[in-house]
Amino acid sequence: MTLPYGDLGESWRAARRPAAGIHLDSAACSRSSRLVLEAVAKYAGEESEVGGYVAEANAEPALRQARSAIGTLVGLSGDDVVFVDSATTALARLLQAWRLPAGTRVGCLIGEYGDNLAAFRDAGLQPVLISADTDGRLDPGALRDLLRDRPPTLVHLTVMGSHRGVVQPAHEVAEVCREFDVALVLDAAQAFGHVDCAVGADAVYSTSRKWLTGPRGVGVLAVGQSLALRLPLVQDAEHPPENAAPVRVLESAEGHIAGRVGLGLAVQEHVAAGPERVHARLSALGRLTRELCGEVGGWRVHEPTEEPSAVTTLAPPPGVDVAETRARLLREHRILTTAIPPDRAPLEMTGPVLRISPHLDTTADDLRALAAALQAITGRLDQPV
Ligand SMILES: *Cc1c(COP(=O)(O)O)cnc(C)c1O
Repeated sequence: MTLPYGDLGESWRAARRPAAGIHLDSAACSRSSRLVLEAVAKYAGEESEVGGYVAEANAEPALRQARSAIGTLVGLSGDDVVFVDSATTALARLLQAWRLPAGTRVGCLIGEYGDNLAAFRDAGLQPVLISADTDGRLDPGALRDLLRDRPPTLVHLTVMGSHRGVVQPAHEVAEVCREFDVALVLDAAQAFGHVDCAVGADAVYSTSRKWLTGPRGVGVLAVGQSLALRLPLVQDAEHPPENAAPVRVLESAEGHIAGRVGLGLAVQEHVAAGPERVHARLSALGRLTRELCGEVGGWRVHEPTEEPSAVTTLAPPPGVDVAETRARLLREHRILTTAIPPDRAPLEMTGPVLRISPHLDTTADDLRALAAALQAITGRLDQPV
């Protein structure tokens, strides 16, 4: 199988410093381009030269452009976008602003991200599970039944989980939620810059450092006007900064402004590359990973081969330790992957998995090297001591 858009892979690689090995860990933290790193450094220099708050005021046009481009990617407007420090903070802040009564029901999947379940708990919300198939994929018919018969106050959909490369049918979910007038919140931490997130949700949040390849320490929260105006914290707030939308009160006043500037540039690079082309190449990389790693050394691929995402998760053969395998892949083969513990999706996962998350520059040879390394390590691990 040949990977589509080889030009995209080459330009993505050429735009970056060389990786120290084979980097298959973009779902955890990807690699920023040289231009993004330079923009971050340049902005940091300006803080020192002209003063941090003057530098921030000077960067306002760039930040406005960043909000606007992010808004477009998530199907909302630039005025709806605020910067925070992570996706986790974005959800916590949204729920804090919403002040839903204790016991409020929130629809989510069995594969919901562990920290999101903790955030629901902290906010006093009661998760209601929406039926899914054996891959963990939401069943839109079951969602329709739930929203018709006993609707939760909101649906929270993690478009792609941390623990599995399955892409949820976000467009259909948005359609059903609109039909029954139930608010929809998307966790796009793994979807932003990876698959389409402009589905018409009421709120979308994400992080900079994963598929969008922006700097660490930056998260984004976008809240559409109609939901924003219903949030008590937004209603009660003093006026936000001049000319800013009411939702801006949710933004962290203190923050990694250089990172926000860098994310703005990373978003521009993503848009210039063409989000659909990016998605097509990432999907092909996921498919090739699954083809090459299926059955290697007894590891089992969780995703359907054709799943349109770059993420592959592998369940270990009996007796093989995932964290140890991840450590040896890095130490002995310079291949960076992730060991995912069951608490990432505590209701769904029954054991740890090894996650492979290539970005655009990954080659078929890289993935063959991974398969060979996995075979070599597992073969040896399998031997009785
Ligand atoms: C990484 C991740 C998060 C958390 O993002 P942070 O920026 O680290 O807070 C939330 N949800 C999913 C699905 C993730 O993969």
